[in-house]
Amino acid sequence: MNESISVPLLDLVPQFQSLQAELEEAVARVVRSQVFILGPEVEAFEKECAEYCRSRFALGVSSGTDALLLALMSLDIGRDDEVITTPYTFFATAGSISRVGAKPVFVDIEPDTFNMDVSQVGARITQRTKALMPVHLYGQCVKMPALQKLAHTANIPIIEDAAQAIGAEDSGTRAGNFGAVGCFSFFPSKNLGAFGDAGLVTTNDETLYGRLKKLRVHGGFERYYHDEIGGNFRIDALQAAVLRIKLRALDSWSAGREKNAEIYRRLFIEAGLAEQGNVLPNDSAPVALPAPSANGRHVYNQFVIRAVNRDALQKYLGEHRVQTAIYYPVPLHLQACFRDLGYKTGDFPQAELAAQQTLALPIFPELSMKQLETVVGRISEFFHKQ
Ligand SMILES: *Cc1c(COP(=O)(O)O)cnc(C)c1O
Repeated sequence: MNESISVPLLDLVPQFQSLQAELEEAVARVVRSQVFILGPEVEAFEKECAEYCRSRFALGVSSGTDALLLALMSLDIGRDDEVITTPYTFFATAGSISRVGAKPVFVDIEPDTFNMDVSQVGARITQRTKALMPVHLYGQCVKMPALQKLAHTANIPIIEDAAQAIGAEDSGTRAGNFGAVGCFSFFPSKNLGAFGDAGLVTTNDETLYGRLKKLRVHGGFERYYHDEIGGNFRIDALQAAVLRIKLRALDSWSAGREKNAEIYRRLFIEAGLAEQGNVLPNDSAPVALPAPSANGRHVYNQFVIRAVNRDALQKYLGEHRVQTAIYYPVPLHLQACFRDLGYKTGDFPQAELAAQQTLALPIFPELSMKQLETVVGRISEFFHKQ
């Protein structure tokens, strides 16, 4: 094994260098204009994003978290309302539900995709359920046709947390178009990353679009006249200008991620570490691979394996300069801040098992073949397979 090869979980420098001149020019253009808040860059960005997401409307916002908050506010979700979501996601999903005063109601996840198990949603719907909030985790869509059917029957809107899933598809529909509002994040580590915080909401409903737009600027179309209480949820013109440049390359980056995922699958199986279709790891196949998208496009914001002895494996990889991450070590139903919700260990066994077994490997598009081989080679060494 070549001692000199290190593999970071994410390195944004090569991506930046590939577009450096254009990005610097975009930033300079905004600086020269001195138009920093909304304005033409933001409008152009929104138009291009709507096109990319195949949505009628898109609105740039301050972050993915604010996109979720704004979506909930635009549907008047608040005190005494319930929103059904997954306990196995980034904190902001359930955090935003609580911030509007509503109650997150969790359902367990599917073991193969890590996504909300749609078959468990129906049993959790009550008179108080005011929205369903699926999360397209790691870049793969929740089984949306089934969820849409439930939502339609119960007449409950869907808010998609598509923060990790720009460009992902299920059954020919792009993330952000399955429900009332789609929420995206441009946090730097997402597939489309800003130079700081930024986000987006999409909708195909013109009335809702108007409401979202108004709530983005403190709830008033006319400055200093407020017919409701919104917030400052604006995206910076600087971020919009940067994202416009990067958006053009997004599909090639997503293709690079998909290609790396395929290489990983082949290498893990060739090394005897994983078996096709094995959902859980075991002693003879100590690594389980993430499920490829059965019915659409997985954009691999993360490539997340399950491993026997995960914590020791991560430590070993770290010592050999292969950087990995654990998303997420504590499911949301067991977070201290949600103690009042009354959940306990054992309530969502699949989410709890995932929290113990999952490990995110480097998957960014600029990884070299040597780096991918190094990751699998080090894991192989750990399990004494070579
Ligand atoms: C990143 C992320 C968010 C929050 O986005 P920010 O832009 O960091 O506020 C919300 N939900 C999920 C699933 C995410 O991955």
